[in-house]
Amino acid sequence: MDCVFCKIINGEIPSNIVYSDDDMVIFPDISPKAPIHYLAVPKVHYPLIADVEGELIGKMLTRISTLANKLGLQKGYRLVINQRGTEGNDAGQEVMHLHIHIMGGRKL
Ligand code: 5GP
Ligand code: ZN
Repeated sequence: MDCVFCKIINGEIPSNIVYSDDDMVIFPDISPKAPIHYLAVPKVHYPLIADVEGELIGKMLTRISTLANKLGLQKGYRLVINQRGTEGNDAGQEVMHLHIHIMGGRKL
């Protein structure tokens, strides 16, 4: 599949994967918008939240919360999910493989 995140997950594109389990990986954003900026990405290619089956997103959020201190986010963090719409892209979702931005390391 011609998807940058699928290529990162299958090793075709290098990245510094800091966490991996059966459901998801976490790696740094290549163009960070905060001192700490990771992407949590499901291993299955779902373009949008609406495409997800099962309890995946809840599991991801719980896991991110338990990993936060290890990621240097003891002072708190922000999670963002950009979603393209059916008639436009106001949020600016660039990669059509669902992902959760994890940002922190300064006052946001
Ligand atoms: P979106 O705008 O789709 O919510 O966010 C996509 C994010 O993926 C952007 O913040 C962008 O910097 C990041 N990104 C795009 N290509 C790559 C890549 O090849 N490697 C990594 N690590 N991040 C990427
Ligand atoms: Zn993908």
